[in-house]
Amino acid sequence: MNIYGLTYEDLENLFLEIGSKKFHGNQLFSWLYEKRIQSYDEVTNIKKELISEVSNKYSIDRLKIVSVEKDIDVCKYLFELSDGEHIEAVLMRHDYGNSVCVSSQVGCNMGCRFCESGRRKKVRNLETYEMVLQILEIEEELGERISHVVVMGIGEPFDNYDNLIKFFKIINHPKGLAIGARHITVSTCGVVPKIKEFSELDMQVNLAISLHAPNNEIRNNLMPINKAYPLEVLIPCLKEYIKKTNRRLTFEYILLKDINDTVECAEELSKLVKGMNCYINLIPYNETNNLNFMRSNTVQIMRFYDILKKNRVNVTIRREFGSKISAACGQLRSKKEGV
Ligand code: SAH
Repeated sequence: MNIYGLTYEDLENLFLEIGSKKFHGNQLFSWLYEKRIQSYDEVTNIKKELISEVSNKYSIDRLKIVSVEKDIDVCKYLFELSDGEHIEAVLMRHDYGNSVCVSSQVGCNMGCRFCESGRRKKVRNLETYEMVLQILEIEEELGERISHVVVMGIGEPFDNYDNLIKFFKIINHPKGLAIGARHITVSTCGVVPKIKEFSELDMQVNLAISLHAPNNEIRNNLMPINKAYPLEVLIPCLKEYIKKTNRRLTFEYILLKDINDTVECAEELSKLVKGMNCYINLIPYNETNNLNFMRSNTVQIMRFYDILKKNRVNVTIRREFGSKISAACGQLRSKKEGV
């Protein structure tokens, strides 16, 4: 077990459990996230015996950065975990701040046909501390604050729900990394029961849905999850989410040449989301060597965009950051492991 997997409250309780005082939890939290200690030896205001009890239960080990690929406004980090597995995280520099895209699992079981991570099966869930440390390590390597987080790296976050929520609590805590909930976004391929649970969550974290198709026929071919939760189940669940939380939803829509980028698809998509408080983020596909899908060309992308606009759908085209440095979901890990 690792100390970076504990929330503020968990740390307070830990000190109570070992027969001490709650306020030491506050102190240790501050050593971890404000003073950024590398070892328990650096803690000066908590008795040695207490710290030694904590260290017997929880390691303070960090993640190992095995490679960093840098471009002007993007850096891609490959981490090695304590069991030798690899995960990736991407830093993107925006004019509004630094955002990090974190991984939530080693591999992924959702099997989306166009996705490099889905090509390889899930090995395991990430522990909470492994998500927290992706951000901490990048902040330190960079020497700058991370203001935004998106959970859009390797894995299906709603297939690792409990660890995910603890991760949100830790990075959101004002005495921790203090990343505002409205600056955190989680993306799911559409795990309906977890979307329902997420609607009840008492935190303002944003939700993004990987839609990628305007009908079941195309979506079934691209995303196996659609067979479990087809659009007639997913869409009402999302409408319920919007009603309950009063928040705007994001739909991600990768444009795949001749598969989901036609005029008919654009019209059908406009109808599907009509009346929903949402916006659509069109994503130029990042081609990967191992899969045969092709990106739509600029003319097709603009045509699709224009139809949505004409139908008064809120739409943006995602700015591309990582296409030169293997930054599409799972590509760096595959390159490193040679599979
Ligand atoms: N499992 C979650 C989050 C991880 S993937 C989900 O499905 O939402 C994050 C986003 O990247 C998803 O929308 C996914 O469909 C998309 N994606 C995967 N491979 C891609 C590629 N090669 N190019 C562009 N986007 C990709």
